[in-house]
Amino acid sequence: MRRKDREITDKERIYQIIAGCDCCRLAFSTGKSAYIVPLNFGYDREQNAFYFHGAQEGRKIDLIRQNGYAGFELDKNHELLEEEKACEYSFRYQSVIGEGAIRILEDPEEKRHGFDCIMKQMTGRDGWEYPEAAVRHTAVLRLDVTEMSAKEKA
Ligand SMILES: Cc1cc2nc3c(=O)[nH]c(=O)nc-3n(C[C@H](O)[C@H](O)[C@H](O)COP(=O)(O)OP(=O)(O)OC[C@H]3O[C@@H](n4cnc5c(N)ncnc54)[C@H](O)[C@@H]3O)c2cc1C
Repeated sequence: MRRKDREITDKERIYQIIAGCDCCRLAFSTGKSAYIVPLNFGYDREQNAFYFHGAQEGRKIDLIRQNGYAGFELDKNHELLEEEKACEYSFRYQSVIGEGAIRILEDPEEKRHGFDCIMKQMTGRDGWEYPEAAVRHTAVLRLDVTEMSAKEKA
């Protein structure tokens, strides 16, 4: 990272940023370009893995089957820092960027764990139940993080 003064290396602080986000952008290589798709998500610290859910078909599912790898980005704490002159304006943020192997889960228990992580992230609560049909008919994706960095403009 060029601006080392803005890098966040403390794991707890990185987890806090992730915990405060509600959208994770996944990026897939298409060869010619990249396909970037915003998704709600869940995160398991122990596994260092992100979970996503959605339809069982579509462009991201095709790209996961093709590549099995994706980049990700999350950000929060946006604030415009106003000044007198245009060039003195700045912007506050916290962000996390990384990449990892991504796969479509088949095991119902693993899928339920993914739902738990997503529901916890979105509602802050545990103890949800999921009908068997929802588990069967929903695609649950797991991204195992191999690289992750965090940056902050305070
Ligand atoms: C904040 C946020 C949270 C979301 N959370 C979820 C989630 O948890 N689960 C989920 O399945 N979906 C979520 N969505 C919708 C998601 O971004 C995709 O639209 C959806 O997952 C379908 O993706 P796909 O690759 O199957 O697209 P397809 O239906 O296959 O569509 C392919 C094409 O449609 C266009 N497209 C697809 N999605 C978008 C988009 N969001 N905006 C503009 N154009 C688009 C692109 O041109 C793309 O090439 C969320 C969207 C937002 C903005």
